[in-house]
Amino acid sequence: MKIHFHGTAAAEGFPGLFCRCEHCMKAIELGGKNIRTRTSVTIDDVLKIDFPPDTYYHVLRDRYHLARVEDLFITHTHHDHLYADDIRMRMPVFASEPAHPLNIYGHDMPMRLLTEHLERNETCFRFQRIVPFAAVEAKTARVTPLPADHNPMETCLLLYIERNGKRILYGHDTGWFPDETWSFLQGRTIDLAIMDCTNGLLPERRNHLNIEAVVEIQDIFRREGIFHPGSQMIATHFSHNIGLMHDDLSNIFEPHGIITAYDGMIHHVSELA
Ligand SMILES: [Zn+2]
Ligand SMILES: [Zn+2]
Ligand SMILES: [Zn+2]
Repeated sequence: MKIHFHGTAAAEGFPGLFCRCEHCMKAIELGGKNIRTRTSVTIDDVLKIDFPPDTYYHVLRDRYHLARVEDLFITHTHHDHLYADDIRMRMPVFASEPAHPLNIYGHDMPMRLLTEHLERNETCFRFQRIVPFAAVEAKTARVTPLPADHNPMETCLLLYIERNGKRILYGHDTGWFPDETWSFLQGRTIDLAIMDCTNGLLPERRNHLNIEAVVEIQDIFRREGIFHPGSQMIATHFSHNIGLMHDDLSNIFEPHGIITAYDGMIHHVSELA
């Protein structure tokens, strides 16, 4: 299974869109893996999570074709996760006739926003409202939404994704998991966990996680048998506020066996093991 990381930054991007802080200046100077766009991942080119404003750039840079995506899951409506105006570009006049409809899944707020932006067109879009703990059989995977600790004014979702016998936890945007999310994960297996690390070495772990919390979650996963010896954790969604370059993050995470995501990174989950 191919996991393609198209963007790995928090809402502002890295360097921040309007920022001139020393961290952003350093990122510009160093370039390469220090340049981070807004966060999204695709799985095997057919399942996409979130639709940030940088999606068009991702398509050009990473050479993947959005027309192939069959399932689009939206975790919440922060603008770095849902830029609905560009999803409209799948409609007639803007695009050639689609080979299949795009199935879009989200809780109340993404569904409300999308149905206001997109005309009803069954050959283009099929909308499905999803709620925590109710698994959906999507076209390309079985997905169970779980509550995140993020925006208290919105039901923000984590995703437990089962595809080809493997299980992926899509773990952001979130702070420390709510109790009911921990209860769900108890007794289950995760082969790959993709985790929020917005706060880096800053002490905050509510609404977004930091490095310490990501490592602690991995410890719990291992202790509780949620992780097996072949399981992998990947940290992503980094804010400019943390002031850590890609190499700084890698040096911190490597001893824990955690991979630091960067834009364009491809990670393979072996379907044989
Ligand atoms: Zn975000
Ligand atoms: Zn900055
Ligand atoms: Zn958010």
